[in-house]
Amino acid sequence: MVLAQLGGSISRAIQQMSNATIIDEKVLNECLNEITRALLQSDVQFKLVRDMQTNIKKIVNLDDLAAGHNKRRIIQQAIFNELCKMLDPGKPSFTPKKGKTSVIMFVGLQGSGKTTTCTKYAYYHQKKGWKPALVCADTFRAGAFDQLKQNATKAKIPFYGSYTESDPVRIAVEGVDRFKKENCDLIIVDTSGRHKQEAALFEEMRQVSEATKPDLVIFVMDSSIGQAAFDQAQAFKQSVAVGAVIVTKMDGHAKGGGALSAVAATKSPVIFIGTGEHMDEFEVFDVKPFVSRLLGMGDWSGFMDKIHEVVPMDQQPELLQKLSEGNFTLRIMYEQFQNILKMGPIGQVFSMLPGFSSELMPKGREKESQAKIKRYMTMMDSMTNEELDSSNPKLMTDSRIMRIARGSGRQVGEVMEMLEEYKRLAKIWSKLKGLKIPKKGEMSALSRNMNA
Ligand code: GDP
Repeated sequence: MVLAQLGGSISRAIQQMSNATIIDEKVLNECLNEITRALLQSDVQFKLVRDMQTNIKKIVNLDDLAAGHNKRRIIQQAIFNELCKMLDPGKPSFTPKKGKTSVIMFVGLQGSGKTTTCTKYAYYHQKKGWKPALVCADTFRAGAFDQLKQNATKAKIPFYGSYTESDPVRIAVEGVDRFKKENCDLIIVDTSGRHKQEAALFEEMRQVSEATKPDLVIFVMDSSIGQAAFDQAQAFKQSVAVGAVIVTKMDGHAKGGGALSAVAATKSPVIFIGTGEHMDEFEVFDVKPFVSRLLGMGDWSGFMDKIHEVVPMDQQPELLQKLSEGNFTLRIMYEQFQNILKMGPIGQVFSMLPGFSSELMPKGREKESQAKIKRYMTMMDSMTNEELDSSNPKLMTDSRIMRIARGSGRQVGEVMEMLEEYKRLAKIWSKLKGLKIPKKGEMSALSRNMNA
């Protein structure tokens, strides 16, 4: 995600401030200027950035902070809070419920990623046990039905559309009726887009909406337009009752931060973001975990969600139990690596894990990082059970390190590097110790704890 660059710049600015011996006005200003530059480069509107800077300065009044106050923590927290405020779009007007029929209508300009997103949204819910269905009411773009059909078939999702019928309202109504009879709980209607916001598009949207009476209208927009997202979101909101927004292509554009903040400024609730062309490159948007991740603090709720999605049900309690015991042994690291390699797309999962994201796995170098993990695992294959199950770093004497290097055909330096990585991760993961094991839907408490 290009946003990683923005996050990296902000984290670096905070880190530099933290490294200063004394935090005075000058150091704070330098930090805030760095953050301002990064946000402006990401096309965040100038006014939003200026307000954020003013607010942080108001909260962090250096003269008033008595000695002994942890200035760094207060500043970090203020930056975190302000970024959350800037990106917080509010809650959607409607949340569908599994088992109860909901009609969801998708609107957006042509090329925004609307059709792709319809399938991603259906697929996301299908994996969670819903019964989604897709209706192609886009009769404007040639090939739209074929595209939806192809995606739906791949994901084994029922679909409805027509090559001959040119009335989108008719198709939408027929499709919705059919899937209501089939007891689908999520009926997704893909509507036409146009190249620009024109009257014909808005009129068609209104007609389809009137005829199908959707429970929720989702507006799909492309993040590459940056802060221009403000005007686009406003225009759509004024023409149809937009209840939620999905921002696409967050993987490829430096302006992603600008787009998200601009949408938030219109108080249009972003519920998901698209992070790639593939079906599963789609993430729930939740502002606090998102900002945590942006700042390299990890996104525990997202990670746990992923665990629930990909680790077989019967293995989940055991894995979570181990994590909560907090004795992060090399064996646990090995098992984590195994899980991570299984989880794919690897980049997405990694970016959710504190400590893993930026250092073990820099963005854009997923292949290398995957090879590195496999190399680490080979070295761990040459370890004894005692070594794997110990969390005592002193156990790893020089002679043991040499034996492991010989056994795995690697250099002593590489074994040492792997052990350093283990120590670094153990330190981060030890924070999980004593935590109640979260069940589905109980992720936020864990997330709060980890980010504290
Ligand atoms: P529509 O005209 O709005 O229905 O747009 P499409 O669904 O046909 O998408 C237009 C292009 O954007 C296609 O090439 C998609 O693969 C691509 N696309 C959609 N979502 C994303 C995303 O999140 N990331 C990236 N990189 N590409 C996307």
